[in-house]
Amino acid sequence: MSSAEVVLGFLEEAEPWRLRSPQFPSKVGGKPAWLSQVGLPSPTGLECPICGLPLAFLLQVYAPISGQDRCFHRTLFLFCCKTPECYTRNDSSCIKVFRSQLTRKNDFYPYDPPPEDEPPADPDPDQTVLPVSGVKLCWVCGCPGNKSCSRCHSVTYCGKHHQTIHWKHAHKRECCSQGVSTIAASPLLFPESELVTEPEEEEEEKEDEEEEKDAKEEGAIAQSGGNGPSLAETMTETDLEEMAMHETADNKVFQRFKKRIAPEPHQVVRYSRGGSPLWVSAQHIPSDQDIPQCPCGAKRIFEFQVMPQLLNSLCVDSTGASIDWGTLAIYTCSVSCNHDDQYSPEFIWKQDFSSDQQTQI
Ligand SMILES: [Zn+2]
Ligand SMILES: [Zn+2]
Ligand SMILES: [Zn+2]
Ligand SMILES: [Zn+2]
Repeated sequence: MSSAEVVLGFLEEAEPWRLRSPQFPSKVGGKPAWLSQVGLPSPTGLECPICGLPLAFLLQVYAPISGQDRCFHRTLFLFCCKTPECYTRNDSSCIKVFRSQLTRKNDFYPYDPPPEDEPPADPDPDQTVLPVSGVKLCWVCGCPGNKSCSRCHSVTYCGKHHQTIHWKHAHKRECCSQGVSTIAASPLLFPESELVTEPEEEEEEKEDEEEEKDAKEEGAIAQSGGNGPSLAETMTETDLEEMAMHETADNKVFQRFKKRIAPEPHQVVRYSRGGSPLWVSAQHIPSDQDIPQCPCGAKRIFEFQVMPQLLNSLCVDSTGASIDWGTLAIYTCSVSCNHDDQYSPEFIWKQDFSSDQQTQI
């Protein structure tokens, strides 16, 4: 397989049990189906650095690396803030990604693949505790949370904010009564669906490469190879001719984006580890120096991108201010290091549409 091969991700409905941890799902929304049951990100690690509220689970991609035993199981988890005001142009600080991986022989899952049939009734349908490690999870968001309700001690939260939400939403009525209601789904979660994958048709790819070559020859996409000065740098020049050229380059990149996704307009994820992202604009494309190394010393490489189409399925308000992106490009450690068996933070680059493109998509 060439490194440029792209696998597309699409949303599909699935029975809830198929989206739980023992099935190693790729999915969007609901609560995270954690992979490793230890070394999870802490509640403070899952806080928005801008508004301070807990981030919401966005999606996870199951992406083992064949031939690497430490990556026999491997999942990338994305979290994002639900406060619209935290989304500023081309800034990804309110979105985080974590990587977890396990060897085939591990403490949490059987050596053999999970059975195809529905397992017996889930003893913990609300996913309030990780079964092997005993790590307690927040009732509202499914992230680590060991602060329990001080009256009934039967539910736990990641912090005050989610405890308050649950109290107002349902717990006020059921605290200290028999059991905790499982009827009311948490109001903070994104709608849950499976993320199913399918290789992108190769013909499109060839066509696209030719186009890219054309564009390069015309000098429009000067830095797509990662060398040379970035567009951001050249943008500081106040030469009108330069500006005009950028507008053309921008339009080219956007047209190319639209053409490439046209055959599969419902794609919400493009996966191509070691490949390159499909940018929505010629502005704010990272140079190699913009992608920080992994703490292990290895460089980070592109792994997948989240497409703007995903926003349509998140039920985020489209009438007013809303969470938003052109694309989210995820870069991960090129050697997929173990990081003391902790969930490893990886890197996200958020690129937005240029202002004149927003209305065109
Ligand atoms: Zn925020
Ligand atoms: Zn929570
Ligand atoms: Zn209580
Ligand atoms: Zn690393």
